[in-house]
Formats: sequence, C-alpha cells, structure tokens
Amino acid sequence: MMKFERNYRICGVIECLTGLHIGGIAEELKIGGTDSPVIMDGVLNLPYIPGSSLKGKMRSLLEVRHSDKWLMNGGDVHTCKEPSCDLCVTFGRSAAEKIEGGPTRIIVRDSYPDQKTRALWDSTEDILHGTEVKGENFLNRITSMATPRFIERVPAGSSFDLEIIFSQYGVDDGRRLKLVLEAMTLLEDNYLGASGSRGYGKIRFTDLALMEKTVEDYRSGADWRPHEKTNGATTAREILGLLSAE
Ligand SMILES: [Zn+2]
Repeated sequence: MMKFERNYRICGVIECLTGLHIGGIAEELKIGGTDSPVIMDGVLNLPYIPGSSLKGKMRSLLEVRHSDKWLMNGGDVHTCKEPSCDLCVTFGRSAAEKIEGGPTRIIVRDSYPDQKTRALWDSTEDILHGTEVKGENFLNRITSMATPRFIERVPAGSSFDLEIIFSQYGVDDGRRLKLVLEAMTLLEDNYLGASGSRGYGKIRFTDLALMEKTVEDYRSGADWRPHEKTNGATTAREILGLLSAE
C-alpha cells in the first residue's frame, strides 16, 4: 500500500528573457486587430502563465529527451498503462488510463506577475495590461504574400512567481523529483508558448528553492523548511546536481 511521506515545494521566479506569447497563434487573421493573445486573468486583467501550459511543455520536452522510452508515434502526448512509468506517474494519466501507480505527483500552479513586474508595466507607456503589441510580417505559404499582423506579447524582462508541489509516496519518487528538475533545465534551453522559432518565449528559472514538509510536519502544523541537501542552490541545474550527488 502506497503511503504519503512528504511534499516538496519548488518555488522561485520565471524570468522572461525575450517576449512571451502564452496563447497559440490564432488561425484566423484579423487584419488591423491583434491575434495570438496571451492568457488574461479575468479579475486582475493581467497576463499569467497557466500551470497546465508549463506542465505540458515540461512533459513534452521529457518525451523528446527520453525518446527511446516515451516518444509516441505521430507526436501524440505519451500515455501508457504501465504502473511504474515515471513520466505518467509524475505528470498524470488521462482519466481513461487511471490505474495503479498512485496520484499524479506534481501540481504546477498558475504563475502570476510579481510586484516588480507589475510596477514596471504600470510605468511603461507602451505596455497596456502587461502586454505590448508588435507588428510582424507573416508569409502565406500558398500565395507567398506577406501579411502584416499584430502580436500581443508579454515584454522581455517580466517575471512571474513559480510554485510546483511534488508529493513523495516512496523511494521511486526521488528519481521522479529529479525528472521535474531536468524538465526545467530542458525548458530553459527551449521556449515557452508559441513562436519559439521566432525568438519568443526564452525563459530562465531564478531564485529557486527546494522546500519540504513531511507527514509529521503536517500533523504538528510545522511550516515549509529548506531541503537540507540542496539548501543554497538557486537554479534548477544546481538543485539537480545536489540531488544527484551521493
Ligand atoms: Zn507512461
């Protein structure tokens, strides 16, 4: 029987080194308007990075990195019925595939702009609700005509707060926690959102900390405390290195 042992919390900052679109490229061109909207929070009226998009990107980068194990034909998202599949156990299975292996290990929270970023947006004239509009020419592959269109993007230099919770149920989960950090290092060398090939979506994780709370801590009401072995490490690469060191 699987028993909950502890939660880990990876917290820190997602820094946008280049502009970021969070939504996909809209199929329909609206000349004179803007497409590819970032995802806006309905209450704050500010862009945010949905946890589901961060998690999906991390998962797909691991599929490609470990293509021998997890890459599916035709580019479909990997899913399987193997109870010990590290990718499915960590990132979750579709409801139809729910079998033993326990609950999905990670929760990726939505990431909201930090205070410094909100102040920067407020004080910059060309930024409205956290987005700037940029005109670009897109080539229609069939007619070879260049079509101007307008892209809304979160400006470079913006930062979003990051929180990932990882639940440990057994010794195999140590390996899976490392997989999450590996995915973060892969993402730093890839991109988030649409139009990565056009230079958008380069991000970096900074000011990271790995915290933990054991089942006893939950019982006694103790707060998160730094994970001893990785204390002081602030990048995904450093934390991964310390977790891997024996
Ligand atoms: Zn699987």
